[in-house]
Amino acid sequence: MIMKKSPAEIEAMKEAGRISAKVLREVGARVQPGISTLELDQFAEALIRLEGGIPAFKGYGGFPGSICASINEQIVHGIPSAGVILKEGDIISIDTGAIVDGWVGDNAWTFPVGKISPEKQRLLEVTEKCMWAGLEAARPGNRLGDIGAAVQEIAEAAGYGVVREYVGHGIGRNMHEDPNVPNYGRKHTGIRLEPGMVLAIEPMINIGTHKTKQMPDGWLVVTRDGKPSAHFEKTVAITEDGPLILTTEPDHRRPV
Ligand code: MG
Repeated sequence: MIMKKSPAEIEAMKEAGRISAKVLREVGARVQPGISTLELDQFAEALIRLEGGIPAFKGYGGFPGSICASINEQIVHGIPSAGVILKEGDIISIDTGAIVDGWVGDNAWTFPVGKISPEKQRLLEVTEKCMWAGLEAARPGNRLGDIGAAVQEIAEAAGYGVVREYVGHGIGRNMHEDPNVPNYGRKHTGIRLEPGMVLAIEPMINIGTHKTKQMPDGWLVVTRDGKPSAHFEKTVAITEDGPLILTTEPDHRRPV
């Protein structure tokens, strides 16, 4: 069942979104060769709490971290670890989420570690573009399939694979609510998008095959062919006026 939010509830979700976005930006600024993903995680948790939030991921289904940190061929849900040290040329997807007053914010970005290859740079640019296209489609009058179609069209035109097994989601009092928001689909199909729906739109795009593999820790997901993958995500409210991004800081707000 889709839990639509009132304008006041959407307003209330902005604080969880602001913290999620601030933490993602600040963690991203600390991405550099030599730092471990556990250090990034500890920084993120401290900042979430300092800002008045609760880490949304910590303990979720038993997940041990406050961020997900997924490097290169890792798609999503990497567990932060002291043994995982970033090195020049890596890309790292970081997913952060905060809870404030029971409302959840969820967002992700893939950052370059130092200088990266042109192939990886292009992957980041295309995947970010996919995310913005998905967000742009999150408006009344469209259907759910319009979001997936917008993402898929850009990714596949670039020759990339669109992950199927992991998708975006509704979000609110719970991190994962209905509906599922696939990054593939057909235009003009699926449920109608209505004001009050709040979605986490999160393309996961692979340079090679779209196929994935679940690792034995039960969390980490990697590409089947070992080629790099990128992940960008924002939480967006569908309003009468169009998409309203909630995981943003007022000073860093940009139009969809
Ligand atoms: Mg999400």
